[in-house]
Amino acid sequence: METLSSVEEVRRHARAWRCAAESIVLVPTMGNLHEGHLRLVEVAQETGARVVVSIFINAMQFGQNEDFATYPRMIEEDIQKLSGYRVDLVFHPEPQAVYPRPLTETTRVVVPELSDVLCGAVRPGHFTGVTTVVSILFHIVQPDKAVFGEKDYQQLLLVRRMVADLHMPVEIIAVPTVRAEDGLALSSRNNYLSAQERPLAARLYDSLCKARDMICQGNDDYRAIERASRERLKAGGFRVDYFAIRRGEDLSEPAPGERDVVILAAAWLGKARLIDNIRVSLKN
Ligand code: AMP
Repeated sequence: METLSSVEEVRRHARAWRCAAESIVLVPTMGNLHEGHLRLVEVAQETGARVVVSIFINAMQFGQNEDFATYPRMIEEDIQKLSGYRVDLVFHPEPQAVYPRPLTETTRVVVPELSDVLCGAVRPGHFTGVTTVVSILFHIVQPDKAVFGEKDYQQLLLVRRMVADLHMPVEIIAVPTVRAEDGLALSSRNNYLSAQERPLAARLYDSLCKARDMICQGNDDYRAIERASRERLKAGGFRVDYFAIRRGEDLSEPAPGERDVVILAAAWLGKARLIDNIRVSLKN
């Protein structure tokens, strides 16, 4: 496993692999790796392609008052964790290598509408930062496939949309959310939870499961379910950004009786902003 920070060197490796008719799979991350990221790496390995893991904390996707400065940076530990896997290359560039120009002057990749709802509504510009950096990474590594987690469901849809709209020759592979035993979705931001808050955090997943059960029992008053779920989270000590039941395909408002929905929530517990979602597919 090689760790490279230079764009040119990564390109050189990618070129050599392609010349040898080998395919490439990319796993983009911001580091502070946990079992969720490592599951993505396993799925990447299973494709049989050359595996590239990028570790890059992308300033463009953080808002002014967000946690860019304090986001956990654990590169030594991350490399140690990845050494247990069949990873060919870790790409860990300096910010300057990815964005040679000031961010305000840098070309952006914007997915309209889908970027502006849910997390996009409370974090303006966030998803443009995500699609821009993913696009840059795709241009540098030129992977055949890329692996993303369903935990960031809106992000997954946006990347799929960008790839389709821009005819990028990259297959997007989605990996189900990896959870702690109590159901909490693993996340780098779980580090911000205090020892007292940590057991309470699982209530976010519980609230999604309760909403799913109501839908499965035939309740299609989605607005009422959303309201009740928000109240339950508030009573559990959360500050709720949103709790929403949307069409799984495009996050638009579902009509009553819609068969394929996703329940998404984002809420703060102390200093930690947690997001999670579950899909509900109703059989006839
Ligand atoms: P991040 O480092 O938070 O940008 O995440 C990098 C990738 O890991 C994204 O595709 C995430 O969706 C994915 N990911 C993060 N947490 C999980 C999890 N608990 N289960 C599955 N995938 C995850």
